[in-house]
Amino acid sequence: MREFRAAQGVTEHYTSLEALRAGWGLPELTKKRPKDEKVLQEKREKFLGTCRVCKKPLTLINGCNVLACQNPECKGVKMTSKNEEDGTEKVWFIPVTRVLDDKGFEIAQNLFD
Ligand SMILES: [Zn+2]
Repeated sequence: MREFRAAQGVTEHYTSLEALRAGWGLPELTKKRPKDEKVLQEKREKFLGTCRVCKKPLTLINGCNVLACQNPECKGVKMTSKNEEDGTEKVWFIPVTRVLDDKGFEIAQNLFD
């Protein structure tokens, strides 16, 4: 069996996939971003989506995993609650945001960096 072992002479020790990649002379991983500027723009728009109140596109907050509506005229989602005792109604607005998970953040970095 011994003579069939291709890795017998290998003495390098790798602690990460990046080190292994460099050690084996493989090319750097490139981002899977579309090269066509128009396609990239469409993908960005589709990824961001629109605000459900004012229908304007959401904005990616730099360095965060949050998309938010930055339209100054958009107050956000209207919330109401009625006080049962005195009958007064309380109204407040919640800003429109979307929190990205790990995968979504990865896509955002790929599309916007
Ligand atoms: Zn909005």
